[in-house]
Amino acid sequence: MTLSKSFEADTALTQPHMSHKDSDNTNPTLLAPAEVEEMFRILQKQMPGRTKDAKGPKDQPDPFRSCISCMLSAQSRDRNTRLATTALFQLARSPEEMLRLSQPEIAAAIKPCGLYNSKAKNIHRFCRTLLADFDGRVPRTRAELMSLPGIGRKCADIVQQFAFDIDVIAVDTHVHRVCNRTGLAVGKTADATARSLEERTPEWTLHDGHFWLIQFGKQICHARTPRCENCSLNHLCRYYRSIEKADT
Ligand code: SF4
Repeated sequence: MTLSKSFEADTALTQPHMSHKDSDNTNPTLLAPAEVEEMFRILQKQMPGRTKDAKGPKDQPDPFRSCISCMLSAQSRDRNTRLATTALFQLARSPEEMLRLSQPEIAAAIKPCGLYNSKAKNIHRFCRTLLADFDGRVPRTRAELMSLPGIGRKCADIVQQFAFDIDVIAVDTHVHRVCNRTGLAVGKTADATARSLEERTPEWTLHDGHFWLIQFGKQICHARTPRCENCSLNHLCRYYRSIEKADT
């Protein structure tokens, strides 16, 4: 059984292009509701959930810093994002302080995280809009958060989850991969997967689901070499099923 295909190849195998309207149990590439329940029960037993000291993006529990940290993390390794956030928050910790810095000053501070010129520009736009539209206070709702420059669905969900303690499963690259491989949810992009997942997720999983799925993606369902033979979800997984079928 070949298990080393890239995620892109995996999704092509198991997930033809579908809209989230397809998310019903007549679609064989998606898990049926009973299977979704079973998958989450297994993850609940095997993966760590949310801990009391979960602090949010790169340990930034404050909503403003969560937003900035999330913006800096785009296409950046964790270590580099940490370096950039630490350097930037030594210079400014509020929208007013941030706007006192020039864009080149911000760009110089956040250089380790890459794309620093466009990120610096976004930080300025974000701070200006935050002050103009929300009096400098980060809003709580997804729609309001997404109205801010530089904040997409993933950042909005992460900020809601960590800074405001709202139960939501934020979809990062690991959650996106696991959802599409298993058939838990489907989407060509992380945002599309998040919309599909939202429709299919039982209420009781919202508090910890993000953590279970991330840990499962990191420990078992790796991007390049998923550990399918040892995976406790392989009896449900649509990707595994498709590979088995191809081998017979
Ligand atoms: S069987 Fe498990 S490890 Fe393999 S693709 Fe499916 S969920 Fe991932």
